[in-house]
Amino acid sequence: MSLIVQKFGGTSVGSLERIAHVAARVGRSRERGDDVVVVVSAMSGETDRLLGLARSVQERPAPRELDVLLSTGEQVTIALLAMALQAAGWPARSYTGHQVRIRTDSAHNRARIVHIDDRHIRADLAAGRVVVVAGFQGVDEDGNITTLGRGGSDTTAVALAAALRACECRIHTDVDGVYTTDPRVVPEARHLEALTFEEMLELASLGAKVLQIRAVEFASKYAVPLRVLSTFDDGPGTLIGPDPEDHSMEQPLISGIAFNRDEAKVTVMGVQDRPGVAFSILGPVAEENIEVDMIVQNAGADGTTDFTFTVHRNDYARTLQIVREQTSQWESSQVTGDDRIVKISLVGVGMRSHAGIASRMFRVLAAENINIQMISTSEIKISVVVEEKYLELGVRALHTAFGLEGNGAAEHPSQ
Ligand code: ASP
Ligand code: MG
Repeated sequence: MSLIVQKFGGTSVGSLERIAHVAARVGRSRERGDDVVVVVSAMSGETDRLLGLARSVQERPAPRELDVLLSTGEQVTIALLAMALQAAGWPARSYTGHQVRIRTDSAHNRARIVHIDDRHIRADLAAGRVVVVAGFQGVDEDGNITTLGRGGSDTTAVALAAALRACECRIHTDVDGVYTTDPRVVPEARHLEALTFEEMLELASLGAKVLQIRAVEFASKYAVPLRVLSTFDDGPGTLIGPDPEDHSMEQPLISGIAFNRDEAKVTVMGVQDRPGVAFSILGPVAEENIEVDMIVQNAGADGTTDFTFTVHRNDYARTLQIVREQTSQWESSQVTGDDRIVKISLVGVGMRSHAGIASRMFRVLAAENINIQMISTSEIKISVVVEEKYLELGVRALHTAFGLEGNGAAEHPSQ
C-alpha cells in the first residue's frame, strides 16, 4: 500500500458533476489500496471573482484581508469534495490550511510554506479516511490566514507529498501531460512519458505552462516524483522525476522545444568598451525590478561595442526609456529596440553528452532562411532569438529535424 497525493485544479472541480467525478477518481485509487491525500483548488473562476469583489470595495485591498477572502474559494471545494466522497461510500475529512497547520511565513498573497504538521493527516489515513486539504493557503505564526500566490495549490500538493513522504504527487489537470512542443503550433507534437525536473523547469519557464514553476522547484528539491495527468481520461500522463542515474538507456537528444512570444530586445550601439559599461546600462533597469533575460555583448572594435539584452514585452517601453535616459550623455551611442521577436529553445538532458546540437539547430534555421539575432546556451538548453514571423516555421522545422514527431497520431490536450 502506498501513499499518494492527488491534486485537482479549478477546472476539475468546476461544477458539482465534476466534483462527483473527482470523488470517483479518488475512489479508484482507494480501491487499488492506496492511501490518498487530495488537494483541491477553488472552482474555476472563483479566485478571480473574489478578487473582483475585493477590488470593487477598495482599489488596493489590504493583503491580509485579501487572503482571508481568497482562501474561502478552496474552503468550498474541500467541503463539497469530502461530502461527495462520503456519498460515494468513502470516509473522508476536509481540512483548511489552518486546520492542518500548514505554517507559512507572513508574506500575505505570496507566502512560503515553512512547516507542515502531519499529525491529523496521519491519524485520518490510519483510520482509513481520505484526507482533503485546501490548496493555496496556510497560516502564519500569529494565526493569520495566508495564501501562496496564484496557482499555489500545486505547491501545497508538492509540499504535502514531501512532508508525508508520499510515493507520488499527481497533478490532475485539463491536459494529459507535457508535449514535445505546443500542439497548437505543431499538430504532430508528441506526448512525453517522462522528463527530468531540470527539463521541466526549462520548459515551464519558457512558456509550457502546465505546472506552477515553484511547485516543480519544490518537487526537485525534495525529490518528490510528480505526475501531470488528465482529470478526464485515463492516460498515464507525464512523470517528472530526478535525472536517472542509469544512463545506459538511450536518452533522446532533445526532449522538447519551448518558445516565448513575450520577449523584446533593446540594443545600445557604439558604447565605450571599458569596465562598468554593462553595469551602468543594466543597473538602472534592475533597480526598476525589470527582469533581464538574454544578454549579448560584442567583442569591441575601435574602442566601442554593441550591447543587446531582452526583457518581457510588457517592460519594453519602460526599459527603452530608462536606457535612453541613462545613455543620453554618452558620446556616439545609440539606443534601438524591437518588440517583434521571439525566443525558441531546445531543451534536453541528452545535450550534456552530445556535441554538435547547436550547429545542427543553426543549420536547420539557415535552411529555412531564418536569421538568428541572439544565442544563449546552458548545459541542457540552447535558445535563439528570431523575428516573430518565423516562430511557427522555426519550431516546426526544428521539431521535424530533431525527430520529435510521434509515430502516428499524437493525443492532444483536451482544451
Ligand atoms: N485558486 C488559486 C488560484 O486560482 C490557487 C490555484 O488554483 O492553484 O490561483
Ligand atoms: Mg490552478
